[in-house]
Amino acid sequence: MEKVSFISNNPEDLLNLRSSLLTWFKIHKRNLPWRSNPNLYKTVLSEFMLQQTRIETALPYFYRWTESFPDFKALAEANLDSVLKHWEGLGYYNRARNLHKVAQYITQSGKIPSSFEEWKKLPGIGDYTAAAISSIEQNLSVAVVDGNVVRVLARLTNQENTFKGNSDAVNFFRPLANKLIDQNSPGDFNQAMMELGATLCQKAKPQCQKCPLIKHCKGLKFHAKNIKYLPRIKRTQKEKITLERAIVFKRSSILLHKINSDSKRLRDHYEIPLMELIDGSFSTKKLKPITRGRRAISNQSIEENWYKIEKSFVNPHLLTQENGFYWVDLKKIDSILLTGPHRRWLKNLLKIQNAKEVDLINN
Ligand code: SF4
Repeated sequence: MEKVSFISNNPEDLLNLRSSLLTWFKIHKRNLPWRSNPNLYKTVLSEFMLQQTRIETALPYFYRWTESFPDFKALAEANLDSVLKHWEGLGYYNRARNLHKVAQYITQSGKIPSSFEEWKKLPGIGDYTAAAISSIEQNLSVAVVDGNVVRVLARLTNQENTFKGNSDAVNFFRPLANKLIDQNSPGDFNQAMMELGATLCQKAKPQCQKCPLIKHCKGLKFHAKNIKYLPRIKRTQKEKITLERAIVFKRSSILLHKINSDSKRLRDHYEIPLMELIDGSFSTKKLKPITRGRRAISNQSIEENWYKIEKSFVNPHLLTQENGFYWVDLKKIDSILLTGPHRRWLKNLLKIQNAKEVDLINN
């Protein structure tokens, strides 16, 4: 693929583009809690939370987190269970574990990384996060390139080639992003590019008439009616998976399975057990699920069917703590680490049960 050339090599055009974008950002930037009284801790925390997560989803977590762990020291001293509990529902739990390690490193060593490369040596910090932290907090000129920035740059430069995937596109546009960055305000410039992609240069409905870069935008000039098709990135089909799970009650307790500590993503979380774990020979052919849920993780689309199984049908020899099984009182569900979708679906199920006055538990 050919290297991308910018609209203009005229330095005045570049100056104009930077200043238009920065002025727009100053006026229109969203009011976000990590932008008011910013500090390194808030920036690091927000960047960890925003990996794979939308701002609207992360906001309540950010508020709750900073109340419990207001700085690196408080986070470093917290125990991991409490840290994971505060992250519950945000998914990709390694982010919480790594953030905890970063806080411990900074607190114990008393050192703060001072370059993009040094940030990248800390756990959970890759190109994107290292560029965001070092530019926003340390004024270093390293461009952030995420999906929003790729979209803006592909449209600005009218890049019509098809990329093999997101990382292919990110690598392609990184040199251009580094050329464009404003050396005096790299942090604001990076945030402005991402903000433009998130709020005006949106995927399906770009609001070009409000865009501060409209006069620089080559894509709009050539494809005014179908600009939304840029960038062209091949999408891999998500693999479809169906899981069958067993809802088993014993008086006011529910049977849960603790996820093996080898699991990277959900280590030490509880979940509704898979049918095959309670008894491999159990057939669900004649059963009707009492609830269904759908969720997606990276390249998988997962459908879950939950079946109510009588305790008497379950092989009691299998249900030991060595096998990861626990009876948990329903009143204590809020205090344990349950996977996000399972907490939501279980709560809904119990709500329906109460509303219909059906006794799921003792039926
Ligand atoms: S003019 Fe439209 S397509 Fe071009 S960068 Fe702005 S919002 Fe995106």
